[in-house]
Amino acid sequence: MKIRITTLSENTANYGFLAEWGLSILVEVDGARTLVDTGLSFSAVHNAQLMGVDLSTIDQIVLSHGHADHTGGLRDVLKVKGEVEIIAHPDIFTAKYVQRDQEGVKYCGISFSREELESRGARFNLTREPIRIGENVMTTGEIPMVSGYEEVENNLSIKEGNALHQDQLADDLALLIDTDFGLVVILGCAHRGIVNTLRHAQSLTGKELVYAVIGGTHLIRGSEERIDKTIADLRMLGIKRLGVSHCTGFRASARLAQEFKDMFFLNHAGTRFTLP
Ligand SMILES: [Zn+2]
Ligand SMILES: [Zn+2]
Repeated sequence: MKIRITTLSENTANYGFLAEWGLSILVEVDGARTLVDTGLSFSAVHNAQLMGVDLSTIDQIVLSHGHADHTGGLRDVLKVKGEVEIIAHPDIFTAKYVQRDQEGVKYCGISFSREELESRGARFNLTREPIRIGENVMTTGEIPMVSGYEEVENNLSIKEGNALHQDQLADDLALLIDTDFGLVVILGCAHRGIVNTLRHAQSLTGKELVYAVIGGTHLIRGSEERIDKTIADLRMLGIKRLGVSHCTGFRASARLAQEFKDMFFLNHAGTRFTLP
């Protein structure tokens, strides 16, 4: 099995690429090409051109959740790709808000209407269930909260009428690849928890070993206790490659780098590698 992972958009970038808060990762498994998320605006398409990645040949898009920093590049990607299946959870179109320290409560959901995206070629396949994309590739569907110490951040909300309620991010999902050397899991933000996501990947596939975890881990405001417990659980899962991005944050990234040494890397825009 040949796996190639190319990060098109991320908060930080390798030399020559544009950095932008958000995430977009192209996952190629035996030639089948899945775009996981699209970044905040045009950086994914821009960086793809620089890397010689032809986005007109992707097979489908998977949206990890509805936040703008993962879906804001959709219009630009659709301009290049045209008609394409977009796999996601039905809640991606809920009115999502975030409370940031100085800015107050701001809209942070999808920046486009469903109708506009459909007129540009989006063919939405919205479901709470896992979707099999290829023989060894699938989405997780909704992720159960089982770890006991991971919680969805309380500064995220959805608007119903005029009231804001905490957003449980039921739309948060990941892409997983079932390989001979263990599971490979591509995270968007892991708002439902990295360990919850990995436990769900295990139960969906019946496989214990997790070989690689790539993407956002949402430890950015995680307590020391949560980071400690996450590290202990990641060790038990047998992880060999940990390429964190985006909402991992500097403090958690530094801890993970110290703990996982050569197995750890920062997964910036412009990073491309093959597995195993
Ligand atoms: Zn998010
Ligand atoms: Zn994010």
